[in-house]
Amino acid sequence: MLTKTQLADLLAEFGEPAYRGTQILDWIYKKRAQSWDEMTNLPESLRVALAERYPLRPLKHTLTKGSKDTTRKFLLELSDGRYVETVLIPASPALYGESSDRHTLCVSSQVGCAYGCKFCASGLDGFTRNLSAGEIVSQIILAEELSGEKVNNLVFMGMGEPLANFKNLCEALEIITSDWGLKIGARRITVSTSGLVPQIRKLAELPQQIRLAISLHGPDDVTRDKIMPVNRKFPVAELFDALRVWNSKKNQKITLEYILIDGINAGVEQAGVLARRAASIKAKVNLIPYNTVDGLEWVRPSDANCKRFKSVLSKAGISATLRLEKGHDIDAACGQLRLKKEKGAL
Ligand code: SF4
Repeated sequence: MLTKTQLADLLAEFGEPAYRGTQILDWIYKKRAQSWDEMTNLPESLRVALAERYPLRPLKHTLTKGSKDTTRKFLLELSDGRYVETVLIPASPALYGESSDRHTLCVSSQVGCAYGCKFCASGLDGFTRNLSAGEIVSQIILAEELSGEKVNNLVFMGMGEPLANFKNLCEALEIITSDWGLKIGARRITVSTSGLVPQIRKLAELPQQIRLAISLHGPDDVTRDKIMPVNRKFPVAELFDALRVWNSKKNQKITLEYILIDGINAGVEQAGVLARRAASIKAKVNLIPYNTVDGLEWVRPSDANCKRFKSVLSKAGISATLRLEKGHDIDAACGQLRLKKEKGAL
C-alpha cells in the first residue's frame, strides 16, 4: 500500500498523469478494491504494472477467535507464510482516545519482537521482521471487512515494538490519518512503546496529535531492569526526560501502562514511586493485572493487592484505571495466538 507521495512518484515513473493518483487512492482506501483489476477507469497496462509491484491485499485471514459481543482476535497470514494478529475490542469505557463508544483495533507492527520483555509472549521467539506500512494498514481494512464495523480507535499495542519500525510506522500513520486514506483522527490513535528514547523524541516532532502510551511496568531501574531489558539501554530517568519533551510538543496526557505482577512490581512502595513519576509528567496510569502466558512463570496479584496499589495512586491525585483485561479467554496477551499457530497447536 502506498502513500500519496509514493504513488505520485510511481505514476511519474510510468509516465502517467497525476490525476490517476487520486483515482487509485480512491479505489484502495475508499472503495476498498480487492484487486487492481477492479479499477476499471485505469488503463489495463497500468493495472498490470501496478499488480506486479504492489499486492493490494498482502494479508490473508486465517482464523477468528471470539464473537461479535466480545473481543475478537483475527489471525492473519503474511505473504511469506508468517502470522500476525490483530484484535478488535468492542465499545467500552475509553482507555485511549476521546469517546467511550468506540471500536478499538489493536494492531501489530512487527513479526515477533526483539525487546524480550520477560512477561510477553511476543518476545518468546525473538524478532523475525518488520511489517511494511501496507501490512499495518491492511490489518485495519481486513478487520473492518471481517467485522462489518468501522474502526474508530486504534492502538499500536499488538505484536512488536512500533518505534523500532519507525519509518514504516510513520508511513502507515500518514495513510491512516489522511483524508485520502482511512481518515481516522490522529487523536484516536495511540502508539505504545517499551521506551525507545530517541524515537520518542522523533515521534514528538510529527505534526499529527497522536497519543503516546509507555509500557512502563516498573517505576525505577531496579524493578524495570528485572522485566524489561530495554531499560538497561534507556533507563527510567532518560525515558522521563524524553517524555517531558513529548509533553512540551503535544497537548494530550501520556498513558503509563503498568502490568501488575505478583512479587515483582506490585508493592505499595512501588506504587508510591510510580505516583511520583506519573505526577512529574502529568500522566495517567493504566493498571493491568497480569494475564497468564503459557511458558512464562509470572503470577497475577490478588484483586485486593491490585486495588491497594491503585488506591495509592488515587490518593496521590493520579488518574488511574484498573481493568480486568478483556480477551483473557482468547489469548489476548500479545503474540499468544500467533505462537500457537506457528507451533502447530491450532
Ligand atoms: S511488551 Fe512490547 S516491546 Fe516488550 S517484548 Fe512484548 S511486544 Fe516487544
